[in-house]
Amino acid sequence: MKKQFAVIGLGRFGGSICKSLSDQGMDVLAIDNNEDRVNEYKTIVTHAVVADSTDEKALKSVGIRNFEHVIVAIGDNIQASILTTLILEEMGIKHITVKAQNDYHEKVLSKIGADRIVHPERDMGTRIAHHIVSKNVLDYLELSDEYSIVELIAGYKIHGKTLIDLDIRANYGCNIMAVKRGKEIHVSPKPDKEVRRGDILIIIGADQDIQRLEKGILDVD
Ligand code: ATP
Repeated sequence: MKKQFAVIGLGRFGGSICKSLSDQGMDVLAIDNNEDRVNEYKTIVTHAVVADSTDEKALKSVGIRNFEHVIVAIGDNIQASILTTLILEEMGIKHITVKAQNDYHEKVLSKIGADRIVHPERDMGTRIAHHIVSKNVLDYLELSDEYSIVELIAGYKIHGKTLIDLDIRANYGCNIMAVKRGKEIHVSPKPDKEVRRGDILIIIGADQDIQRLEKGILDVD
């Protein structure tokens, strides 16, 4: 059975979620109180409707209770975002994902029961900053305040070395989860695996250890 999602707020973030879910073959109900925005999505999603999500009756009449997962992507209007989340929570929606504008917004959302809170601008800013500081950092995913996963491109400095030679766990306290080489991906690579220039190493560890590792094994930009 196809999974069903409702997305409330069709700005850049909500719009991109709608497109991506539809591309993956999901049923998507897109909701916005702005008719022009709704019209833009009519041909992209399964259903697109004009409704004010702070109006409980309006949400009920579009059948929001049939959706297991609702994404609240209202940005600037924090009051509308909070009220919408509260109504969805009271209706018993199983999974509620909400975009937060700032830390205060996030605190309120978690108190009223949002299951997942995302900060796309903040998270993307962090990822891009890591890439700007070192061109060898392809991607960066914060797991918590202390731990992250990074994708690093191997350079000349470690070309031809095996994972035992590098001994990343002993030297830096990090773990290599996978090595990507072109289209191939080796998950939990063996210790005798040789690293080549251009390989992508997917590494998990504490932020401070990852920073030491970047300095230690990557070529200077
Ligand atoms: P993005 O950065 O994702 O583009 P944004 O900050 O520009 O977001 P906003 O304009 O704040 O986003 O809100 C996103 C969408 O949410 C808008 O299209 C807006 O019309 C819609 N929206 C705001 N309030 C409500 C509401 N009460 N009911 C339904 N839709 C709403």
